[in-house]
Amino acid sequence: MRETGPAGASGTGRENGGAGGKHGPFGTKENFAGGLEVQLNLGMDSALLPGDDADVSGFCRALGVPGLADVHTHFLPPRMLRRVWEYFDASGPLIGVSWPIRYKWSDAERVAHLRAMGVRMFSALAYAHRPDMAADLNAWTMAFARATPGCLPSATFYPEPGVGGYVREALADGARVFKLHLQVGGFRPDDPLLDEVWGLLAEARVPVVVHAGHAPVGTEHTGPGPFGAVLARHPGLTAIIAHMGAPDYEAFLRLAADYERVALDTTMIFTDFFDKLAPFPAAARPQVRDLGLAGKILLGSDFPNIPYPYARQVAGLARLDLGDAWLRAVCWDNPVALFGEPPAD
Ligand SMILES: [Zn+2]
Repeated sequence: MRETGPAGASGTGRENGGAGGKHGPFGTKENFAGGLEVQLNLGMDSALLPGDDADVSGFCRALGVPGLADVHTHFLPPRMLRRVWEYFDASGPLIGVSWPIRYKWSDAERVAHLRAMGVRMFSALAYAHRPDMAADLNAWTMAFARATPGCLPSATFYPEPGVGGYVREALADGARVFKLHLQVGGFRPDDPLLDEVWGLLAEARVPVVVHAGHAPVGTEHTGPGPFGAVLARHPGLTAIIAHMGAPDYEAFLRLAADYERVALDTTMIFTDFFDKLAPFPAAARPQVRDLGLAGKILLGSDFPNIPYPYARQVAGLARLDLGDAWLRAVCWDNPVALFGEPPAD
């Protein structure tokens, strides 16, 4: 069942230097290990470059954080999750590249895997692509969080009559994070039906994770313009821009700098997979450092819907070489400052 899981990909040999490391299409054990060997030749502390998922808890210990706090993970009703996986497997039109999901495991196995890696806070982000869906999704994700220590009570919404009512209800039930996916949702974020909701979230200071960027495939509702219009109207909104706004990194970094309560999540960015889709511009690294130290860059991974091991997200952040204080801020301090300390193990 877990032939692609952490147990089968132990990192033996990664300290042996990179002479034999091969670059090439990734997704195989050899190529993954080879790529890391090359990176280790840059002289970084190997404990801070987890080679595979089994090394992630050691990464936390070496960094001196109690664990990881990942604001961008997905848990969905089983039928819907299967459909999402089928869509990725078939490289649906909003994906554009081959994207074989790595962690097609049961909810319980995926939660256990997060815990084994030391991920102590995570979310259950769901999103609707048509009307009459969001309230049911919320019932499922909120119940999931109640039954799953460490999972943030998560909810979503869609521009439809009654949306203000079920968002109020979710807030009253203790929702602590919302998610919107403008690309899959296929709606404009400044739809008048949502105006009340943005006001409610701003007032409640509850963060909303928004897939607002064009990547992997843009639509008329993605990019810095449409969500920028929402922020202009609701400047007090607590928003987390998913995927750092890829590919319009600089424009979204600017929104985070300009608006007091706008942050970005690292989801999939700085991995070799995403570097091929939308490479992060080296010139923007100083902003990433400054915003991270200012509490505005948060660890996100997209687990389990990723075509590579979780460790690569963490190693990608470490390879940026922005300092241990930055890594501690992004992987733990910033999300915990926003969401509060997760329950003890
Ligand atoms: Zn996601």
